[in-house]
Amino acid sequence: GMETDYELIGKNEVLAMYRPREKYSHKGTYGHALIVGGSYGKIGAVTLACKGSLLVGSGLVTAFVPKCGYLPLQSSFPEAMVLTDSAEEKISNIDFSISPNVIGMGVGIGTHPTTAQALSNFLDNNTIPLVLDADALNILSETPGLLDKMPAQSVLTPHPKELERLLGKWENDFDKLRKVKEFSQKYDCIVVIKGAHTITVYGNRGYVNTSGNPGMATGGSGDVLTGIITGLRAQGYSALHAAIFGVYLHGRAADIAVGETGFQALIASSILDHIGKSYLDLF
Ligand code: AMP
Ligand code: MG
Repeated sequence: GMETDYELIGKNEVLAMYRPREKYSHKGTYGHALIVGGSYGKIGAVTLACKGSLLVGSGLVTAFVPKCGYLPLQSSFPEAMVLTDSAEEKISNIDFSISPNVIGMGVGIGTHPTTAQALSNFLDNNTIPLVLDADALNILSETPGLLDKMPAQSVLTPHPKELERLLGKWENDFDKLRKVKEFSQKYDCIVVIKGAHTITVYGNRGYVNTSGNPGMATGGSGDVLTGIITGLRAQGYSALHAAIFGVYLHGRAADIAVGETGFQALIASSILDHIGKSYLDLF
């Protein structure tokens, strides 16, 4: 029926999903994450997401950004490779010659009609697993028929406003969850409902995260999460596990960070700085 089973997600639950690092492994073992996004003035979002991917352990990360993103990315994050769109200030044609395991799409991308068309054209031929966030979600909401082009097992990470654009207005929390479950079943996707208690929904099940704090209500925080989930998916975590595990690690990193920064001074980079400790804290 429409009854939902809820599970609280803490340390023990994510430990059961944890995939250890193998001794006889190499960077190819841990996958290649591609982050597609950015526009003039919003290249930092892509940098944050790329850092999130590598810090959770993906073997490689590449950014695909408008030309104006090339220099800032290369100079602020040497570990990332950078490919550029043909356009200077926005994504206009998503065309690359690499074979990533997963694409994190949408951080800082904007909603220009040219970018919306690029996303639509890309989805026509894409079979690579996707993590969709930010303005990619807004484009999906506003372009008729586009949601139907999402590959199965896509992970969507809307904040409340983005969720409302996807689903329309809801009457109360119960109605909201009912709509999200329907949506998840219709598109065979995982929906991460971001907020103070982030709930990951897949089909009829909800996974309620127990880490995180109000210091995370700060610009770039969600971009870090997109990178984390993409980086976990690249390593072979299932879409659902990448979402659940990623949300937990993200919140836990912020909880550890807040011990040094307090709530107000916590910024997205502080979350990145504590991802390592959030892993160590599992054991
Ligand atoms: P975004 O709005 O896309 O930057 O995403 C914000 C991120 O911070 C999400 O992962 C939220 O779950 C998290 N977040 C925002 N506000 C809070 C809060 N009050 N308590 C805990 N986490 C929060
Ligand atoms: Mg966001």
